[in-house]
Amino acid sequence: MYIAFIGLGNMGAPMAANLIKAGHSVTGFDTQATPAGVTMAASAAEAATGADVVITMLPNGAILRAVADQIIPAMKSGAVLCDCSTVDVDSAKAVAAQAEAAGLGALDAPVSGGTGGATNGTLTFMVGGSDAAFATVQPLFDIMGQKAVHCGAAGAGQSAKICNNMILGVTMIATCEAFALADKLGLDRQKMFDVVSTSSGYSWSMNAYCPAPGVGPQSPADNGYKPGFAAELMLKDLRLSQQAAESADADTPMGQLAAALYQQFVEAEDGKGTDFSAMLPRFEKRGRA
Ligand code: NAD
Repeated sequence: MYIAFIGLGNMGAPMAANLIKAGHSVTGFDTQATPAGVTMAASAAEAATGADVVITMLPNGAILRAVADQIIPAMKSGAVLCDCSTVDVDSAKAVAAQAEAAGLGALDAPVSGGTGGATNGTLTFMVGGSDAAFATVQPLFDIMGQKAVHCGAAGAGQSAKICNNMILGVTMIATCEAFALADKLGLDRQKMFDVVSTSSGYSWSMNAYCPAPGVGPQSPADNGYKPGFAAELMLKDLRLSQQAAESADADTPMGQLAAALYQQFVEAEDGKGTDFSAMLPRFEKRGRA
């Protein structure tokens, strides 16, 4: 398959490398990055010309819309535009409609698994779009990831991603504030883990990604809270969840509060550049307001 890959940053570069390793012909374009081993085009439109599948892995919805305007007129009829970025649901739907109106297939296929998953080819793809477009790109999902869930029509992938990450942000905050309370009550952290991880308060945040250093499985807490999943990326996803909640008229008070707390942590405190589980040392330092 001839694949164009647009956006070769921390995630895109290793994803493209895995497609090349599997024998696909990949032409890339990025406004800044020039990763080794990828043939680069002079523009996004040049990369997209003649491609069977164009994959985009870009920072946000505004950039995706701008890139879509450039590449959709250049793509050949029947080709598929597959956006793997995390963007707002409205941009995902708008780009899909624009692509389909031009006779193309379109998928929104955001990922979870981070840069480790991108490098190891173990990402999970959450996909929105038609059955036909999904079937075309599935062999590529199998190379870049361990699982691709076809969630529904255009926008369904982004919807699944932000709902999942809204739960994650809320449960991480709840886990961190509970650890900080337990500290102040004189409870040993290991005992707290032993109880909660096998009781009704368990969650992925506690059991698989414990925010307390030296407790539970290895996690960024054991590495000075170096990300991992950075607090500012969690903030991005929580903001997208609130943008979607706004446009769908959904009441999401916990998601709203989680977004406000991560905003404060990232923009007004020392959270930027730390893992999102560094909410624990943040709560540890604080008293009741
Ligand atoms: P990144 O900033 O490292 O990469 C984005 C790349 O896009 C950059 O190389 C940039 O130069 C390029 N770019 C920007 N504007 C462009 C344009 N107009 N044309 C072509 N290239 C352009 O970001 P990343 O960490 O690779 O993340 C990419 C996407 O994946 C984001 O939407 C992010 O939310 C999502 N994501 C990231 C992670 C993670 O752990 N990093 C995990 C899951 C999802």
